[in-house]
Amino acid sequence: MRTLIFSSQTYDQDSFLAARIPGDIDLHFQPARLTLDTVALANGYDVVCAFINDDLGTAVLEHLAAGGTRLIALRSAGFNHVDLDTAQRLGLTVVRVPAYSPHAVAEHAVALILSLNRHLHRAYNRTRDGDFSLHGLTGFDLFGKTVGVVGTGQIGATFATIMAGFGCELLAYDPFPNPAVEALGARYLPLDALLAQAQIISLHCPLNEQTRHLINVDSLNRMRRGAMLINTGRGALVDTPALIEALKSGQLGYLGLDVYEEEAKLFFEDRSDLPLQDDVLARLLTFPNVVVTAHQAFLTREALGAIAQTTLDNISAWAAGAPQNLV
Ligand code: NAD
Repeated sequence: MRTLIFSSQTYDQDSFLAARIPGDIDLHFQPARLTLDTVALANGYDVVCAFINDDLGTAVLEHLAAGGTRLIALRSAGFNHVDLDTAQRLGLTVVRVPAYSPHAVAEHAVALILSLNRHLHRAYNRTRDGDFSLHGLTGFDLFGKTVGVVGTGQIGATFATIMAGFGCELLAYDPFPNPAVEALGARYLPLDALLAQAQIISLHCPLNEQTRHLINVDSLNRMRRGAMLINTGRGALVDTPALIEALKSGQLGYLGLDVYEEEAKLFFEDRSDLPLQDDVLARLLTFPNVVVTAHQAFLTREALGAIAQTTLDNISAWAAGAPQNLV
C-alpha cells in the first residue's frame, strides 16, 4: 500500500518509524499540509494519511479519488474536517484513530488551568528577567471550586477524574450522560445552568452543527463573572471575537486555548519572523490572563505512539478487506 503521510512533522516520522510497520505498507512522509495546491503530490498513492488541519473538502477529495487514492486514514479522532458525503460518493473509505490517549488531552487542559490560575507563564518570564516580585500573581485554590465539563466522553471523563482529585465540585453537560462521571459525583445540568454556576468551564465535545459557536456572546454573558474558559476541543466551538470583549470587560477572567477557529494556516509552523496577520489572535495574545498553545494537547510520546500504530493497523485491516475504525 503506497501511503503518503501529509502534514508530517519530525515527531510524526519518529513515531511511525518506531511503530510496527506491516510489510505491505510503503510509507512516504510529506511535511506539506494537504490542500488544493498540494493534492497532486498524492497522485498514485493508495492511501493518504491526514491530520486535523489538512483540507479534506469536496475539491481535494475529488482530486484524490481521480489520482487513485482509495483510503483516507485520519491520524485524529475528530473528523469534522472531512466532507463525508463526497467521500462516500467517490467510494473513498475514511478511517480514524478513535482513541489514543485521553490522558494527553485531559492533562493538557489541566496544565492550562494551573498555568492561568498560578500565573506560571508570567512568573516564568519574570524570574528570567531578574524580577522576583509577586504582585499580580495571586491565584486561587482549586479545592472546592466548581468545574463544568462540556462533553463527558473519553477526554471529558478523564479530565473530570483529575479535577475530582483536586477536590473540585463537578458539573457536566452532555446529551448522553456518562455513568463513570456521575460516579465521581458530577451533576448533569442543562448547558445554561452549568455556565451560570461553574467557575472553570472546559470544552470536550466534538465540533458539529449543534456545537459550532457553543460559546458566544450570549453564553459568555451567562457565565459567572471572572470565570475561566478552557478549550482543548476544536476552535470553532467558540466564537473567538466574542472572547475579546468578554476579556476586556472582565466578564471572562481567564482563557486557555489549545485550538483556534482560524488555526489551519497558522499552527504547527514557525512563524516567529513574520508579522502576525490574524488580528483576533494578535489581540488575544496581548491579555495577561490568556494562554494559547498551538494544538499540542495530543502531543505526548504515548499519544503519538498510539496514533501511529492504530493508523498502520487501520491501513492493514482495510487492505485485508476488513476495515476497522470506519468514520
Ligand atoms: P468522545 O466521542 O469520547 O466524547 C465526546 C462527548 O461529547 C460524547 O460523550 C458526546 O455525547 C458529547 N457530545 C456530543 N455532542 C455534544 C453537545 N452538543 N454538547 C455536549 N456534549 C456533546 O470524544 P473524545 O475522545 O473525548 O474527544 C472529544 C473532542 O476532543 C474531539 O471531538 C476532538 O475535537 C477533541 N480533541 C482535541 C485534541 C487536541 O489535541 N486538542 C485531541 C483529541 C481530541
